[in-house]
Amino acid sequence: YFFLQKIPKVELHAHLNGCIRPGTLFALAEEKCVTLSSHHFQPTKKNDNDQTLIQGDDDEDALLYNVQPRSLQDCFDMFAEIPRCVNDVDSLRRITLEALHDFAAHNVVYLELRTTPKVLNAECDKRTYLETVLGVMNEFEQSYTRSMTCRLIVAIDRSLSEEEACENVDLAIAFRKSTLSADRIVGMDLGGNPTRGDFHCFRPHLERARQAGLRITLHCGEVADCDMTSNITHADETSCSTYSEVQAMLDFHPDRLGHALFVPNTFWSSQERRIPVETCPTSNVMTLELAQHVRGHLMEGLQQHPQLREWLDTQYPLAIGTDDPGVFDTNPTKELWLLCRAFDLNVSIICRLVEQSMEYAFCDEATKRRLQEDIHEEMLLLL
Ligand code: 5GP
Repeated sequence: YFFLQKIPKVELHAHLNGCIRPGTLFALAEEKCVTLSSHHFQPTKKNDNDQTLIQGDDDEDALLYNVQPRSLQDCFDMFAEIPRCVNDVDSLRRITLEALHDFAAHNVVYLELRTTPKVLNAECDKRTYLETVLGVMNEFEQSYTRSMTCRLIVAIDRSLSEEEACENVDLAIAFRKSTLSADRIVGMDLGGNPTRGDFHCFRPHLERARQAGLRITLHCGEVADCDMTSNITHADETSCSTYSEVQAMLDFHPDRLGHALFVPNTFWSSQERRIPVETCPTSNVMTLELAQHVRGHLMEGLQQHPQLREWLDTQYPLAIGTDDPGVFDTNPTKELWLLCRAFDLNVSIICRLVEQSMEYAFCDEATKRRLQEDIHEEMLLLL
């Protein structure tokens, strides 16, 4: 575990509000007199970005257990609670800065953080929301001694309206055109509760973003029944009745796929250009409830993952992500450690996986090449 902690890492799948430290959430709730209604938000002894682990006085094997199971529904109940506490610029600044510190503490050298722009209050509209996050990233890169390159992906929440999605795309394009933030905003994501909304409605907006030079990642095939035809209101009924949402997403050819748990088997071997997958081990075990029958054991749960074994065996392009470190009680080192233990991988395979994942980053080519060289050199020194 402590060797893995030292290696340089690449984080391509992390949601800002899902990174909130539990201690921060409780402090903000108290400060703002918010009663957290979700029973999952119970203070635990291990708070604030597992500083105990970083200092090395925790039991490594204990990390492989899942102390607080979270189903998909539990997670979305929790996500609904967080904006009640992160409801102004100060709290947004705080969680952004803490998230950056937490990733840097695990030697993440390249971070693509994603967030859904929100209207927080009368002073903070969606534009100010993004400016705040970008501002914190700028300050962090300039002042923090450890070097971490930060990029932002603007997310669309599929449970919200098409109008909201359109606004988010407009903003992402506007920020991309501005010289101050052009490099910083690299892509768009479609996420949010996978049992709500419909990809077909968001597709034209994502296409517009793509035309403007933004890279696209889609949360895809997160739930077993992916055929959302019953929800379709805007698209052609006849084509939709045989056309599952997952297939429509794959046909869209996004630059990356998030999770991709329930995708037709034929897809993996049939692609001319394989679409990289952002895979988040702890998150998948939790939301698929894979550890339920193995005494809550994360590692054994991960061994039941529908795709990971095959992806690893076929050297499918993968990026290992944390998804929501605050909600899933995880961090980038822990995700690699879990993968290593569940699939009996040696550290050089893990290092190769990390190095390769930089290839799937959305930043410009020069930044990518520079970071690839740095990561390679650092890996060589460590191995
Ligand atoms: P935010 O965009 O508010 O900064 O980050 C939290 C949001 O990210 C959640 O409310 C949810 O919309 C999205 N999110 C976080 N984790 C997941 C996930 O595992 N799957 C999906 N589909 N969306 C997620």
